[in-house]
Formats: sequence, structure tokens, C-alpha cells
Amino acid sequence: MLHQADFLFHGALNDFLPQTSRHTLLRYTFRDAPAVKDAIEAIGVPHPEVEVALVNDVPVTLLHPLRPHDQVALFPAGPEYTWPAGYALKARTPPEIKFVLDVHLGKLARLLRMLGFDTCYENHYADKTIARIAEQDNRMVLTRDVGLLKQKIIEWGHWLRSQQPGEQLAEVIHYYELAGKFRPFERCMACNGKITQVSKAAILDKLPPKTKMYFNEFFQCLCCKRIYWKGSHYERMQQFVVQLQQQ
Ligand SMILES: [Zn+2]
Repeated sequence: MLHQADFLFHGALNDFLPQTSRHTLLRYTFRDAPAVKDAIEAIGVPHPEVEVALVNDVPVTLLHPLRPHDQVALFPAGPEYTWPAGYALKARTPPEIKFVLDVHLGKLARLLRMLGFDTCYENHYADKTIARIAEQDNRMVLTRDVGLLKQKIIEWGHWLRSQQPGEQLAEVIHYYELAGKFRPFERCMACNGKITQVSKAAILDKLPPKTKMYFNEFFQCLCCKRIYWKGSHYERMQQFVVQLQQQ
């Protein structure tokens, strides 16, 4: 027998719906008693983007079985909403801010690392690998692929609305409220390793002649051994970080 329930998606969750279905009551038809998670993902909304689910005005988990005539309201994560204790499905972020990025997000990975955020990225990761890393290491998934976020084992994740790396970075900072949490230039942009100060003498033979002449302070990645110094590139990045902090 077929049953029906009504769904109302709030705020940014409407980004996942077709234009004509946004901000309106959606009638969902089902058999048996599917979990709320299955229903919302069939409608198009990936579960990690949902912060609060109410069924008939009562907060529920996404495993809650749907019943005929239920009124379901879903709210997104993000700084726009605050909730009484017991409403949110989970903390907005894991205890430590750590990311794993989908393939094709290499530029965003470098920017997040520049700000000091632990960011796992390889351009050959399969969806299953990304989901497994997210689960094992409590990492937040960032992706342009809604389908990836529907993987059951992903707890934290965000679908990037923008396709432009600078805008994506601003979006992530806003969404996870990271503005006060930057630790710029502590992490290698190439490999995510930690950077530490190193004496000039120790790496002298690896420096280009002009760098050798004009700079005395050096840093090195503990993983890939890449060397950093505060050249013109550093100055530009520092300006960029200051701009981000002011946004
Ligand atoms: Zn490195």
C-alpha cells in the first residue's frame, strides 16, 4: 500500500531541489516505513548537509521510520541557525577540523593547507576511498558531487556550491565558522605535512642563488622536505589571509 508524507526543506537545503520544488511542501509517496534518510536522499538532499530533522515538530534522527501523513521539516547546518540542546543530529564539525577533498579540488586543498587546516587530497582517490578516509579519520568531506555525500559512512560533509577555488574557500570558512581558526603557513601546501624552521646552513645547497643571497629565514616540510622562505609569494599569500580574516 502506498503512503504519503509531507517534506519541507529549509534554507540552503533547497539548493538540492529543482527550481519549482524549492521552499514548498513536497508530497513524498512511499511503501513500508523507509528511514527519513532514505526519503530525503531519494528527493535529492544528501544526509551530511542536514543538521536538524523534525517529524511532527519533534526532533528525530535520520534513521527514524517514516509513517503515513508525517510532517517532516529539515534544516541545514550553518551559522544561520541555532538550536536547543538535543535538536542537532551531530556536532557541526568533528572534534578536530580536518578535511578530505574530492578529486579536482587541488586548488582548494592548497588554500586550506595554506591556512593551516589538515587537508587530505589526492587527484586519484575513488569515492569509496574518500568515504573510508572520512570515516576512519573523522574528516569532513568537501565535494562538488552530491552523490558522494550520500555514502552512508560519511558523517560530515559539504557540497561546494561554487566552482571557483577562492569562492569555495570563502564558502567553507563561512559554513564551518573557521575565521578565528587560521594557523597560516604551518602546513605544506604541496603535501599537507607540517612545516618547521630550519637553519640556512642545513639546506644551503638546495637554494637557488638569489634566494641564498637575499634570505636568511627558512622553513622545511617534515614530509616532502620542500623548502619555504618569505619571498614575494609569501607576501601575497599573507595579504590574502588578512583579507579572508576580514570577510
Ligand atoms: Zn610537504
